[in-house]
Amino acid sequence: MTIPPGDPAVTETGRLLTVMDVGGTTLRVGTFDVRGGGRLSDVDRMRVDGMDRHPGTPLPVLQRQVVDQIVREAERRTGALPGSAPAALAVAFAGPVARDGTVLGAPTVWGGGGDPLPLQEILSARLSVPVLVVNDLTAAAWRYGTESAVPFCLLTVSSGIGNKVFRDGEVLLDAGGYGGELGHWTCDRSPDAPLCDCGARGHLGAIASGRGVLAAVRRAAAADPAGYARSAPARAGAADPRLLGNPEIAEAVRDGDPFTTAVLRSTLVHLAAAVGAVFASIGIRRYVLMGGFALAVGERYRELLVEELVRQGCFGLTADRVDAMVVLGEDDDDHGLIGVGRLMGRRLAAHREKVTL
Ligand SMILES: [Zn+2]
Repeated sequence: MTIPPGDPAVTETGRLLTVMDVGGTTLRVGTFDVRGGGRLSDVDRMRVDGMDRHPGTPLPVLQRQVVDQIVREAERRTGALPGSAPAALAVAFAGPVARDGTVLGAPTVWGGGGDPLPLQEILSARLSVPVLVVNDLTAAAWRYGTESAVPFCLLTVSSGIGNKVFRDGEVLLDAGGYGGELGHWTCDRSPDAPLCDCGARGHLGAIASGRGVLAAVRRAAAADPAGYARSAPARAGAADPRLLGNPEIAEAVRDGDPFTTAVLRSTLVHLAAAVGAVFASIGIRRYVLMGGFALAVGERYRELLVEELVRQGCFGLTADRVDAMVVLGEDDDDHGLIGVGRLMGRRLAAHREKVTL
């Protein structure tokens, strides 16, 4: 967190923060009251001024546009609430972020490559309020974490896969931003393994993400056209598997369709292996499932992952204990906003204590 010298925000009690969640396509902006457990209000969603909206624009221009958009929206919040202006800004950002708030990369926001951007420092200088910038999944972990919380691993399964381990009041990460990238663990070493967003082959995110499952269903349909023709999505109108999307697959699995369920199981073999390795190495016994695809399939997704974990075995755990350790997260779009608001509230409180002592 960067706090300008002598900033009055750190000596106030009960305050509003502007919170933002910068994703590849959407910028979410809200106001967060840190009192009590924290309360989120006035959420706006808009397209990010990045690569998705302005394809083909050079990376430094996109970086500038995104920074300008964040500043503009933060200033708009401050101006909109006379007398109770948000006194600080907390940003959850889609990309690896170093401990000092430097964005190390943002492939979905402004494309791959480019120099690291000291976003926290830049925003703090331009806005003259305390600013915190953290990775979006790190922020999401703070939605579920407290200093006394049972250690847990957040697992997000959407167009990609990500994870964060939370223990003893902190998200376990290397200071340089490494960690939380189970989605880029190589689990299929065959030469024709599915291609990941990052350009490598056989990564977990290319296989078990929503996009990976969709590709797997299409491959299975090509290999067994008759089987696919009897499947629920084919009978519901997607006779050509190219017409399929993740919503149709999620619905089919929820309804117990054997074809799509079998394909999903085949991808969960790899996700369960990753979870099993996290458990075996550091003993985490709580896994919170998030992400559009996992939550769209819902309880059935959780059950199928548990079945696979039990089949592979978690050393020292009974099936009942494996079942109890996998839970579904909240099914909304506010993880980054709430999490980063809570984290910033804690950091400001800790700072206040230090100033007062
Ligand atoms: Zn990858």
